[in-house]
Amino acid sequence: MGIFLDPRRTAAPHRADTSRRRRRAIRAALALAVGAALPAQAAPLAGVGAPPHVAAVRLAEAPVPTAKPGAAPRRHPRAANAAGDATGDGAAEREVSDRGGLFGTGLFSGSRATSGGGGGGNTAQRALLAAYPGAFRIDGDTVVFPDGTRIAWDDGRRKSAAALLADPDVEDMFHYPYPAGAPARAPGRDEDPGRIRNDAFFKALYGSSAGAVRGSLRSVPWVPRLGGGQLPVTTRFGVDRKLEAVSRELERLPARFHKYLVPSAGTFNWRVIAGTDRQSVHSFGAAIDINTKYTNYWRWDAPKSGGPLPYRNQIPLEIVSVFEKYCFVWGGRWYHYDTMHFEYRPELLPHCR
Ligand SMILES: [Zn+2]
Repeated sequence: MGIFLDPRRTAAPHRADTSRRRRRAIRAALALAVGAALPAQAAPLAGVGAPPHVAAVRLAEAPVPTAKPGAAPRRHPRAANAAGDATGDGAAEREVSDRGGLFGTGLFSGSRATSGGGGGGNTAQRALLAAYPGAFRIDGDTVVFPDGTRIAWDDGRRKSAAALLADPDVEDMFHYPYPAGAPARAPGRDEDPGRIRNDAFFKALYGSSAGAVRGSLRSVPWVPRLGGGQLPVTTRFGVDRKLEAVSRELERLPARFHKYLVPSAGTFNWRVIAGTDRQSVHSFGAAIDINTKYTNYWRWDAPKSGGPLPYRNQIPLEIVSVFEKYCFVWGGRWYHYDTMHFEYRPELLPHCR
């Protein structure tokens, strides 16, 4: 197996984890923030013209030369923002500037200049606070929950792609911008937007044991017109109601989409992710797998001889768009793809926070 096929065994530094990459990620996140002003229904389908925010993301994701490892120290996002465009791919930043008035009094107002040390001062911290209202506060460099749980926002460590997955701080969850509304395409090497999760953070949000999570579950009808049965979903943050809304919209799609939706492969399941000791978001009742028959999963497709993963997907973008509208991210947007998987991650979707 190639070293990158099992991220936990990968010891080599992630060469793209440079300040340049972070600047690119911040610009893409800001471009997505602009997209939040568009109605969710405007999410493009395959073959349909992309709205401006998608075009901006494409520009922001244009390949940039990889810096030599260790060439630049890890920099704080606000420093990256202040540094301006030094990489030559500044179209996305201009897009933000041109439309910045949309956020003049909103969530992202002043985010470029505000200190991150005073609690919720930078863009990612504001996004997280808005995504899970009232669940925690950010005190300096620490996320503090009402029960006293304290989790590092930024542990200050520079990480390989494998370490980002295995040992992320809360800030690392924003490392790869999530390309909401974009057409399906093969993600760049190791780009797993939404797959980086701080276990302690999610346990504090939803419950730290199966029993604790069960106390917040409610049975939700899954595409009842199609005979989808009942699925247990967390009521925390209204995830149950969001999934019901997804279900109602999916039922209204033309019949050719129905085969992807039923039978569902399930929601709540207290378990770790295959091949890891990290807790799956299914553990918290905040994820759903649709029909396994049409799924593609990187572990099934990984070349035995090593080498890059192929990208495979059969799930129509029409289905993905409905989930994203209600703040679920899609595992089909990951380099380590899992195309039947959707999970509630409002912090990564600009219109959800
Ligand atoms: Zn799943």
